Amino acid sequence: QAKASGKNRMEIYQSSQTDATLLNFELEQDLRLAVNTPQILLHYQPQFSLDDQQLCGLEALVRWQHPHRGMIPPDQFIPLAEETQLIIPLGWQVIDLACRQLAEWLEQGEQPQCVAVNISPLQLLQSDFIEQLNLIVDAYGLSRRLLELEITETLLHQDPDFAFKQLKSLRLAGYRLALDDFGTGYSSFDRLKYMPLDRIKIDRSFVRDIGKNPKDEAIILSIIGLGKSLDIEVLAEGVEDASQQAFLKQHGCDSVQGYLLGRPVAQPVLSRAV
Ligand code: C2E
Ligand code: MG
Ligand code: MG
Ligand code: MG
Repeated sequence: QAKASGKNRMEIYQSSQTDATLLNFELEQDLRLAVNTPQILLHYQPQFSLDDQQLCGLEALVRWQHPHRGMIPPDQFIPLAEETQLIIPLGWQVIDLACRQLAEWLEQGEQPQCVAVNISPLQLLQSDFIEQLNLIVDAYGLSRRLLELEITETLLHQDPDFAFKQLKSLRLAGYRLALDDFGTGYSSFDRLKYMPLDRIKIDRSFVRDIGKNPKDEAIILSIIGLGKSLDIEVLAEGVEDASQQAFLKQHGCDSVQGYLLGRPVAQPVLSRAV
């Protein structure tokens, strides 16, 4: 009896596995066709500095407007893009779109703040990444300080020496570097010491429980302290209410991003105080 039901479970498992594979295969084909078309677009979420309440940057977040399935969030296709290497052309499209938008704002007489772009480790570790990036940024006539590259600690997993070398060269070339989702994953303070960073982004899982969980608050305080001692700006992600923001301001966090201050939108307002 037990053996039979075990076998059934196995079959169910295998068939749902097959469904998932088919679905992914279909999605992969669709994504292949979507890259380098207007199906891929960017939304921008504002970032505000806490001392003067001014807009200090925008994070570019990719969106996929699928012809039949509607808007697909990045969590549902970035992992697939990474598995299939489609993240490389997709990543270049994202960089190109962000640069084009910056150039357009400048042309319209706006004074845009820095735009942050999420970069997959796979793309950043390409040997010609910096060369290609410079080509695009120069073609749009942009200052490199207008681009912030958001990386995560997974960048350091495979070949930390090469990753450090790329980061150093990027910073030397004038790009800003931010460490995304800090505190989750595989943080090592020892590695942080060698990373040439302009900014650390506190993951929103810590911000969520401000006022509810003293342990999360303690972690936030230690990240802010770390930023101060290493002379790296600290931004908190996922700020959804005023009490979270007050806590962060009171404890010296430099800047914030979250639904309280603005959701990601296609046409962000460029000059706005909180
Ligand atoms: P992330 O870089 O940590 O981006 C922040 C995510 O949190 C965004 O989700 C944003 O919409 C969401 N968020 C912002 N404020 C709040 C808030 O107050 N509350 C809540 N609950 N969520 C908030 P999104 O746009 O779905 O992006 C998810 C992840 O997908 C990003 O996390 C990033 O890891 C990845 N991603 C997005 N765009 C790109 C891209 O162009 N390239 C690559 N490689 N990855 C990307
Ligand atoms: Mg990010
Ligand atoms: Mg993040
Ligand atoms: Mg994230």
